[in-house]
Amino acid sequence: MVVLKAIEFAKHLVGATLGPGGSAVDATAGNGNDTLLLARIVGREGRVYAFDIQREALNITRSKLVNENLADHVLLINDGHENMDKHVSGRLDAVMFNLGYLPGGNHNLVTRPASTLKAVDISLRLINRGGIITIVSYSGHPGGMEEREQLAGMLENLDQKQYQVLHYSIINQKNHPPRLFAIQKL
Ligand code: SAM
Repeated sequence: MVVLKAIEFAKHLVGATLGPGGSAVDATAGNGNDTLLLARIVGREGRVYAFDIQREALNITRSKLVNENLADHVLLINDGHENMDKHVSGRLDAVMFNLGYLPGGNHNLVTRPASTLKAVDISLRLINRGGIITIVSYSGHPGGMEEREQLAGMLENLDQKQYQVLHYSIINQKNHPPRLFAIQKL
């Protein structure tokens, strides 16, 4: 398939941008899949910061990293991504957000518009020129659509001389398919 799902397209964009030795953030570690991808790409010379408010998510993420011998260059941070700038040193080449709740976990512990927008704003400041921020957004849970709308409102007003913003969705799918926002700093 060349028409990728939102999550796969986010991975594709990150894979085309980030390289060995790079610096990246997984803003929502969850089950660790994006953290694993970032850790594989940047390798031992690079650095990955993975955030989650749930220790359970970080434990799952750690075991996946350990299995692939990739834990050494990943910092697992049990704090909200809205505090990203307190933990990250230097600039970033990629930031991945996968919003919503932890699959198989507590559905009340979801990302929220105010903290999501704050974290995206910090990411815009920390990202290098040419770097990419991907945000996969879901609308099927309470608050999800509101979060997406606020995010879209913020992103469509970014200065076009500084950022290029993509909004990707598969429009003939029922059941609230996820959407992708991707921002590249020019
Ligand atoms: N990227 C993950 C993966 O590959 O499995 C899935 C992420 S899951 C959809 C969303 C995660 O965001 C949950 O684990 C949740 O605990 C976390 N989360 C919610 N609010 C957060 C916040 N303010 N800062 C960081 N993580 C948060």
